[in-house]
Amino acid sequence: MYRSHYSKDVTKKDYDKSIMVAGWIEDIRNIGSIAFIILRDKKGTLQLTVLKKENPELFEKLTSLSRESVVSIKGICKENEKVRNGYEILPKTFEVLSVAKAPLPLGVVDKVEADFDTRLDNRFIDLRKQRNRAIFTIRNAVFAVAHEYLQSQGFIEVHTPKITASSSEGGTDVFRLKYFEKEAFLAQSPQLYKQSLMATGLDRVYEIAWYFRAEEHNTRRHLNESTAVDLEMAFISDEEEVMNVLENLVHAMWKRASECKNEIRVLGKKIIVPKLPFTRIVYDKVVNKLQERNSSIQWGQDLRTDDERLLGDIMKEHGTEFYFITKYPLESKPFYTMPEGDKYSRGFDLACKGVEIASGSQRIHEVKLLEERMKVCNLSPKDFESYLNAFRYGMPPHGGFGFGIERFLMELLDIKNIRECILFPRDRTRLTP
Ligand code: ATP
Ligand code: MG
Repeated sequence: MYRSHYSKDVTKKDYDKSIMVAGWIEDIRNIGSIAFIILRDKKGTLQLTVLKKENPELFEKLTSLSRESVVSIKGICKENEKVRNGYEILPKTFEVLSVAKAPLPLGVVDKVEADFDTRLDNRFIDLRKQRNRAIFTIRNAVFAVAHEYLQSQGFIEVHTPKITASSSEGGTDVFRLKYFEKEAFLAQSPQLYKQSLMATGLDRVYEIAWYFRAEEHNTRRHLNESTAVDLEMAFISDEEEVMNVLENLVHAMWKRASECKNEIRVLGKKIIVPKLPFTRIVYDKVVNKLQERNSSIQWGQDLRTDDERLLGDIMKEHGTEFYFITKYPLESKPFYTMPEGDKYSRGFDLACKGVEIASGSQRIHEVKLLEERMKVCNLSPKDFESYLNAFRYGMPPHGGFGFGIERFLMELLDIKNIRECILFPRDRTRLTP
């Protein structure tokens, strides 16, 4: 091993002892007889203090290294109150593990932020910044609790195909690909598969995976490859049961994120855990409220970005940042959404601060009605034969949702651009790295 200690794991017990640390050289301040080197590792930074007269050769070699080179250092750990960590390391021996080329394409500690494209082009360096790495540590934490919560509620994790023969929603936003002699699509969602699983007796399933949408627009909240928690549950009597699982899941994730104290501090954020249950507001009321504020929305239409934002402001005035919009008009929801009467549906969205983070519904489980709804939506039941078959031999009532993780992180951490919330974003123009 090249390292026995991370910067943040050094304790008083290590003082006056020889320890090994390793990481990237963030900065070198050489003032002639003494040099201060900042070494960065996964957990933070530490200071190496090098005295020229003690070992001129080591001094020369260490101080002439390029920034961001990777080194392993063996040295004496000394208490020093003047140093931020309360200690410093006096190097005795070292090994250069990798020399960084100069100049760097992107500075790690520069005061001025590079432009976003340069950052994304050099994401491996961009992620050396504590702030950017913190987002992914939190991302990891919320995934962990999502698994914990859903497993505790009797959901099992499943994995459905990402190469499919029919597009899930019949939308236009699908990536087409050549599948030997046939045409295939990249999955926009696991919708058809997770519903089919409701006919198996698995009853409660979830999937956390990647979905592909060929949306042409370049917005701050759309990616062409994004991550979602998708879930489906059987034997429900209405969509409220699905909303209940969703709000508890979101709450558990938000709460776990609020416990990532270090990362939140690095990001300079404050995370306030929302109260349960989240507010429910029916679509009709949403339209009224928006029209009162001069929106041009007409009944039946889906909310446009401006409307979503305006509604976020209105709800904030009422003291709530999370809210379900329920009882959507049937015509604005996908074909598999359970109707309620002629005009309405059992579809809902969950929004946070004016941005949709999840969509769900009770689904149709009766095959005749499903076929009818497909036709109304200009889809041909013939194209969905294997899906429809799952409804012909005993299908319980069921419902579920799709919940975008990058959207969630964006709202959780008040991040303006969704691309910050995924390691290597895919958007309208970006395919590398
Ligand atoms: P929007 O109207 O905001 O574009 P949508 O209604 O088309 O989203 P759904 O099909 O309902 O999206 O997908 C479920 C969830 O997946 C959304 O609520 C959102 O959190 C996330 N999501 C959908 N499309 C994208 C995308 N292109 N990039 C990132 N997340 C997405
Ligand atoms: Mg939606």
